[in-house]
Amino acid sequence: MKSLIFLLFALCKGFSSAERGYFWHLTDLHLDPNYTVTSDPKRVCPSAGDQLVTDAGKWGNYLCDSPLALINSSILAMRNIQPDPDFILWTGDDTPHVSDENLGEDAVLKIVEQLTKVIQEVFPTTKVYSALGNHDFHPKNQLPPQNNSIYTRIAQFWSPWLNNESIPSFQKGAFYREDIVNISAGRVIVLNTNLYYDSNRDTANLDDPGDQLKWLEDELTSASQQLKKVYLVGHVPPGYFEKKRGKPWFRENFNKRYVEIIQKHHNVIQGQFFGHHHTDSFRMFYSNSGNPISTMFIAPGVSPWKTTLPGVDNGANNPGIRLFEYDRNSLQVLDMVTYYLNLTFANNVAPRWEKEYRLTEAFQVSDGSAQSMNNVLKKIADDPCYLQKYYEYNSVSYDRNTCEDNCRVDHVCAIREVDFTKYDECLKTESSSSMILVQKTLISLLLSIYVFLF
Ligand SMILES: [Zn+2]
Ligand SMILES: [Zn+2]
Repeated sequence: MKSLIFLLFALCKGFSSAERGYFWHLTDLHLDPNYTVTSDPKRVCPSAGDQLVTDAGKWGNYLCDSPLALINSSILAMRNIQPDPDFILWTGDDTPHVSDENLGEDAVLKIVEQLTKVIQEVFPTTKVYSALGNHDFHPKNQLPPQNNSIYTRIAQFWSPWLNNESIPSFQKGAFYREDIVNISAGRVIVLNTNLYYDSNRDTANLDDPGDQLKWLEDELTSASQQLKKVYLVGHVPPGYFEKKRGKPWFRENFNKRYVEIIQKHHNVIQGQFFGHHHTDSFRMFYSNSGNPISTMFIAPGVSPWKTTLPGVDNGANNPGIRLFEYDRNSLQVLDMVTYYLNLTFANNVAPRWEKEYRLTEAFQVSDGSAQSMNNVLKKIADDPCYLQKYYEYNSVSYDRNTCEDNCRVDHVCAIREVDFTKYDECLKTESSSSMILVQKTLISLLLSIYVFLF
């Protein structure tokens, strides 16, 4: 009888309560090894290019990539806030934004090795699932779909983290799959989506570079058969950049395939975690009937570097790091908390990593499921207060300007539509609904003036 009660208790517990675990997501560290605190505005950092840096501080500058002090500070902040995560996701871009001539293969490898050691020193026993970014190669963006000396060397640096099967897989194409340590139901698939980047000339004419898409489909099918849940991890995300209208990263054929794979296999995918934007945003995926089926969480970068992408206005950010809370049994995302360093305050007063926001508090949703994230999107699209809140978090509380009509359309459509055609349609629909809103406001204003005067 006792054992029956125990069994019932265990079953109820298993089915009803989430076992909360934690993991960090760290991305876009972009170390500038030559960052120097000097009053000479031309000599502060090569990553500022020709721009003059007039107020270099110890912890960095918005025109520059990260000084080592900033990177060390971010990893130590992770340890202070949550020293015992189940694992860490690290989604790449370690080197500075400088020309290939001023970097070279040895310098790229040296930086990747250096940052790997920093993380290993601070979290010596923590498993890290690590992806390459488009800057973790020489020449940058040109990551090949087959073996090469850089993948081989980086597999050596990461050998304390990679299991035996992952090492040859990584050496072959910089992608791999592993069961999550101590989480029986969980699996991480690390992708090399740099193969789909439209700046990658090496893969431009290929249908399936490195056969990664086929491999991904096979992995998702076998995860389903083995009743596993999966996190997808990568650097360059599909869809559009929310800070520049009409700017995607993937070539169109790859973008389409990616969306189709998510639609087909969404039942096993419990989250997608990407970087590259340096901003805090997310992407929604829907079934053909319009149900929300998956969310990609795009984490802000540690580097505060103001992007020089033409058409982006004031695109810097404060350094950010992100802690996820998840259910160890189902891998469902329960919550996420973004921590940040106000760089101006750090340089003027002291480096203080603080909580920026908690997803469920800030957007009044119950968790980080696709359904909840779709509700977050609805709030951002329909309520100017939520839009503004999202917009400030987007740059990690750097840009506090008002997000008005065009800005709203850019962000809402980038979040809602990863597919290229649907994104274009969204721009039209949302622009006209913004116009209607403006017209309605104008009419009611004119009416009240009329009533007041007559
Ligand atoms: Zn980056
Ligand atoms: Zn990148």
